[in-house]
Amino acid sequence: MESCPVCDGLRFDARTIAGVAIRRCASCGCRISDIAVAGGISYGHVDDGAYAGSIARVRRRQAQEIIAFVRPFARSGEWLDVGCGYGYVLDAAKAEGFRVRGVEPDGKVASAARERIGNIEQGTLAESTAVADVLSTLDVLEHLHDPAAFARLVRSKARKLWLIKVPSSDGLFFRLAHALRIRGAVQRLWQSGYEHPHTVYFDHATLTRFLEKHGFEVVAVRYLEEVPHGTVVDRLTLDGRTPRWKARLAVPLFFAVNLIERLRGRSDALLVLARPRVGQQ
Ligand SMILES: [Zn+2]
Repeated sequence: MESCPVCDGLRFDARTIAGVAIRRCASCGCRISDIAVAGGISYGHVDDGAYAGSIARVRRRQAQEIIAFVRPFARSGEWLDVGCGYGYVLDAAKAEGFRVRGVEPDGKVASAARERIGNIEQGTLAESTAVADVLSTLDVLEHLHDPAAFARLVRSKARKLWLIKVPSSDGLFFRLAHALRIRGAVQRLWQSGYEHPHTVYFDHATLTRFLEKHGFEVVAVRYLEEVPHGTVVDRLTLDGRTPRWKARLAVPLFFAVNLIERLRGRSDALLVLARPRVGQQ
């Protein structure tokens, strides 16, 4: 990304924190990275037991919260989840009476989702993708190299709502990791050692501005607890690089951060619901 995806700014405050090159837009504060993609960790290398014990459990619980978040604005129609993973949100949307459809780039994951849900296509959002009433992109936007082009495409595909979940630089984990330059945490937050690192870090203000620029208006915002108690050790040992004894040492820190975040009403996982502004394409 040459210019800022939020405000088109060209001036950045560039710094390398814990080996991750981060540029912060001087005018809007949006953060972008230029992490080289080089055969990092994909789903294929992830420990399935740890995945089931941490991410899968959190995702299933979050799926329920996500549906409850959308329900006041849409109760029926067709729901398309882009980057649907194993399809937890589609499961929950289907149970609520939505007609569901998904696209997922990872072949193995897509076929696992297809076995349960049916209408899952392997791939990404494209010009050929049919429109849907609710279009969700959960943990997708932060991986893209051209989020603006993607937003324009979503604008032509989402009839009523665009539901977005992104990691937020509002979160205390993000702030602590960067302020204290905690190497492992910064690298994990940007997923710098992974196959699909984070290219951009939004927060509430920059994501709102980004959406407005692309013809959407934000109708609801909330934060989700991303690493709840009881999932910390599994989450930290997911990629097999951190021993369990070491992960256990971090439990009190996660406990403290989650407590503070509950009081602040914030977290590292931002959920935003937007609708296309009428008369603007
Ligand atoms: Zn900017």
